[in-house]
Amino acid sequence: MTKLVGVITAETSGEAARQAQAALQRGADLVEFRFDRLRDLGPADVRSLARSLGRRAIATLRSPDEGGGRPRLAVTRSTFLREACQRGFAYVDLELDADSKDLGELRALAKRYRSRVIVSRHCRKFVGSSRIRETLDACAAAGDVAKVVVPVTDAREAGEVIDVARAYAGTGKAHVLIGVGPAGTVTRVLARDLGFAFQYAAVGPEAASGQLPLRTASRLGARDAFVLGLVGHPIQHSISPQVHEAALEATDLPGVYLPFDVDASDLESLLDSADRLRLRGLNVTIPHKEGIVPFLDELDGDAERLGAVNTIVLDRGWTKGFNTDVYGFRMSLRTLGLRLGERRALVIGAGGAAKAVVHVLLREGARVMLSNRSLARADALAYSFDERIEVVGLEEAPRRGPWDLLVNATPVGMAGHDAALPIPEPAIAKASFVYDLIYNPPETPLLQSAARLGKPRASGFEMLLHQAARSFELWTDREPPIEAMRRAAKESLR
Ligand code: NDP
Repeated sequence: MTKLVGVITAETSGEAARQAQAALQRGADLVEFRFDRLRDLGPADVRSLARSLGRRAIATLRSPDEGGGRPRLAVTRSTFLREACQRGFAYVDLELDADSKDLGELRALAKRYRSRVIVSRHCRKFVGSSRIRETLDACAAAGDVAKVVVPVTDAREAGEVIDVARAYAGTGKAHVLIGVGPAGTVTRVLARDLGFAFQYAAVGPEAASGQLPLRTASRLGARDAFVLGLVGHPIQHSISPQVHEAALEATDLPGVYLPFDVDASDLESLLDSADRLRLRGLNVTIPHKEGIVPFLDELDGDAERLGAVNTIVLDRGWTKGFNTDVYGFRMSLRTLGLRLGERRALVIGAGGAAKAVVHVLLREGARVMLSNRSLARADALAYSFDERIEVVGLEEAPRRGPWDLLVNATPVGMAGHDAALPIPEPAIAKASFVYDLIYNPPETPLLQSAARLGKPRASGFEMLLHQAARSFELWTDREPPIEAMRRAAKESLR
């Protein structure tokens, strides 16, 4: 049975005890005291924590070479570990390399005091399957539990670690095998599935890159975990992880939402690893919405029509692509009370988002005009629809109004881009309603200009929310908890 371990990285023993009590109340089976994170460390700290919480705790003094802190130690490492082994902790963590000379003696000492020994090794770089397995064997031979940590940088390496872990589970030896780094989080999510002795989770700030928060790990509980995620490059700016984590939390589903920052050349191998990673759903963002299409087994109607996918449902090796931007934009028009039958709309941009917007506007019966920096691209987009779409240059646009609706579907004005207008201001003056698909910042230069001109306006927030809600529904078959998702989105944008 995998035990959930809350990792305590407090700087004083008093704070460590307080955090440990709270973690045990919040569902942790054990806590790990990272003694190397205490500011000053002496035998008194070990004794006081062992007395109050020792039977529910792992005592760890991670060495600096293996990612540990550098506390002011009143005694040597070996004296400290000797002390820890005699204090009745449930487990003491020893290192295969740093403690190599003392391992036998320390293990015997721990046994006398009814403590078990974890023997761990933190590799500095990714090593292949056979080296990982050899290291697990070496740790298992020296201790009661073998723990190996390997840095991983992508889904392929994470998949390799998972394969070794699954095979090792067959040996019956107690073990933990973690892929460290954001790409390795999935190895922590699948701890129970992979038969690990422990699932480590962060009580405060993460002690190692990619560690799950205790709250998320306890939600996974003893159930079969599944993985959702976001594929794109870059993806740090996205608020989808916060929005979907809030949805998983509100519905109490045993899933996590992870970032997969991958280049176009790695899309296929990510999808190939899907089963091993227990991937059930993906969002796709810039620049892969079109590039991922050839790797999918099936497309839903809107995705097929637009040749662009922002959501993938994965089910036992079968991949189906959807375009929930279409749904999100349509729902946002409803929420905003915009009826567009026979009305005139100007769309700026000719990328994936513009395609979804034009598609919805035409279906609603609007007459669409398109403007873009590159007119050839606007022409191509217009040509891809059966309906007549006028294409107009950005500078010429002001002379071609008025419009009932103006939609910006370019990143001009987005956080991290120039604070500029996507179209000259005289064109904005000719729109009855101004809609910017950008949601970060909430007030773009375009929306500020609309406000100055006294125009009703909206950001891309509602579209973001509704496309996310639809994706969640497709992955989970659950009614999306829209208010929880809205709160999380607002919070992330603050
Ligand atoms: P694409 O990269 O597919 O398209 C970008 C479009 O913007 C192209 O037409 C491009 O013109 C134009 N563009 C880019 N940079 C500039 C610039 N500096 N000056 C003028 N035009 C420029 O992106 P998407 O269509 O996927 O996304 C567009 C915007 O929509 C983004 O800001 C995105 O955040 C937002 N969006 C919001 C959603 C929501 O839920 N609210 C959902 C999806 C997207 P060219 O053809 O000349 O290169």
